[in-house]
Amino acid sequence: MDYKLEPPDEPMACTWCDGLCTVVVNSVTDVSGKVHRLQVHEVVSCPHCDGTGNEPPPDPLDDPRIP
Ligand SMILES: [Zn+2]
Repeated sequence: MDYKLEPPDEPMACTWCDGLCTVVVNSVTDVSGKVHRLQVHEVVSCPHCDGTGNEPPPDPLDDPRIP
């Protein structure tokens, strides 16, 4: 067995927060697509990995097109 590329016991770091578990929000995009820059940068726990820092497995039900 050869696991040079990706060891199976080491989960992939979250693509949103790079495994840091938090993301900095410095701008928001409204429904019309206009970007608003925020004066205060908000640090929030990563909504993608739910604060684990690991890339969650793909969920077919988690479709961003479904509200
Ligand atoms: Zn994350």
